[in-house]
Amino acid sequence: HPQLQTLTATVEFHAEKQPDTTAIVCAGLRLSYAELYRGASRIARAIQAGGLKRGARVAFLGRESVGYYETLFGCALSETVLVPINWRLTAEEVGHILADSGSELLFVDAGLLELVDRVRPRLERLDTVVVLDGADDERWRATGADGPPPRPATGPEDPVVQLYTSGTTGLPKGVVLAQRSFFKIRDALAAEGLDWIDWRPGDRSLIGIPGLHVGGVWWAVQGFAAGVTNVAMPRFDSRAAVELIRDLGVTTACVVPSMLRLMLAEPHTGPADFATLRKIVYGGSPISETLLTEAVRRFGCEFAQIYGLTETGNTAVCLPPADHVPGSPRMRAAGRPYPGVRVKVVDSGGETVPAGTVGEVCLHSPANMLEYWERPEATAETLVDGWVHTGDAGYLDEDGYVHIQDRIKDMIIVAGENIYPAEIEHVLAKHPAVADAAVIGVPDDRFGEAVHAFVALRPGHEAGPRDLLEFLRGRIAAFKIPSRFVVVDRVPRNPSGKILRRELRDEHWRDRDRKVN
Ligand code: ATP
Repeated sequence: HPQLQTLTATVEFHAEKQPDTTAIVCAGLRLSYAELYRGASRIARAIQAGGLKRGARVAFLGRESVGYYETLFGCALSETVLVPINWRLTAEEVGHILADSGSELLFVDAGLLELVDRVRPRLERLDTVVVLDGADDERWRATGADGPPPRPATGPEDPVVQLYTSGTTGLPKGVVLAQRSFFKIRDALAAEGLDWIDWRPGDRSLIGIPGLHVGGVWWAVQGFAAGVTNVAMPRFDSRAAVELIRDLGVTTACVVPSMLRLMLAEPHTGPADFATLRKIVYGGSPISETLLTEAVRRFGCEFAQIYGLTETGNTAVCLPPADHVPGSPRMRAAGRPYPGVRVKVVDSGGETVPAGTVGEVCLHSPANMLEYWERPEATAETLVDGWVHTGDAGYLDEDGYVHIQDRIKDMIIVAGENIYPAEIEHVLAKHPAVADAAVIGVPDDRFGEAVHAFVALRPGHEAGPRDLLEFLRGRIAAFKIPSRFVVVDRVPRNPSGKILRRELRDEHWRDRDRKVN
């Protein structure tokens, strides 16, 4: 539906064209497109009745629910900007986001209210708190009960969501995305007669990446724009995900690599559980070839990888299904830029480097962010002449495929040699006893840094430092081999699947300048 260029047009259109089709299912509740539009309109009128002006920030701190998506469209219909907040954050972190965004209205799960109360005294602009307990939010929604449908005057360039970076690389910043961030990639593909998601009527689409992350909300809007049935989960749980796929006949899903790993590790799952799946879209963190190969084999459907950042409005680069041939070197690439997206790789002086040379990946995309909220300096640093400097180390190959190595800030330098943790993690993942691995650099007086590896083992398997060392020898260069291996129960990861290296690094770097984040 190329005419759909805004979230508001999306929800209006499908409420008119297919009112009875289920738009969203979550935790046993479902809303048709007509109900979604009605609920969102009520929210929009209540927001306006509360006196919030165009562009005001509305925060949502809670688990994913059908109400979350009503609120997303309700904000769009009232011309306000939704600020989703990760419910796993501490009171301090939540306070930072509420204060930084200047949110005037907050929706909060009853169980998280106490956390908000602790920081509330310093939130001068927070006027109204609506508790999502069924009674309070119903009372509040009633203030928008009657009236004509809202007629927002917002267009593709207007801000619609403000997403906070997860802070794995510093203090969370508010990335302001315009409506166009959700539609431009689809349009660019369609203009060339391409559609790698290949939506079909009757599709049931699993929102595996939580909707409070760019990957989740972007994917959800793709599904809503296509008019299919979207399936969300209050929190990702691999057993529940497998059951939803099987019981609801899910056809498309968007997940991070660690979710693939967890689903495949679920006992008693077999091809019958995944029989309806047609396509899995994954991205958000590097994936090891071992995991991808196993996933392609066991899920038995098409795969597409996406690469991008919150700052690039999610995906700017895609590895299409045709490139998912086990054993082919393409499987190690993140993909090719979409039509209309440009990629360049620059050195530390900002000069473009030739194909095959590693540098910082920069992306020029019609979906790029508007700005970091109220941080002109940070915006000017990251968004230069329309190019987002990603902070990722990578290179372009001769065929124009982008290869991502790791975040530049995660790079380890041992005696002047650059080492990317992801490379070592991927090799460790090939060891039959290793379930998950994380690699960090720690200060070292002789070589500047030393490599430490943390591994979580598969249940019932054993592997000591000596085995792991032997395994790595010959598979990676000697200077990359960790000087220490630590067996852990679980590698710390955030909900979008990223390794929380900071948690592992902190004790080593506490009093140093580098890697303090
Ligand atoms: P912060 O910058 O605070 O960590 P964040 O974790 O929310 O914030 P995102 O914008 O969600 O950041 O993640 C973007 C990063 O995720 C990219 O810069 C890249 O390092 C990684 N990433 C995303 N997709 C892929 C992919 N397909 N392959 C490898 N890395 C990826």
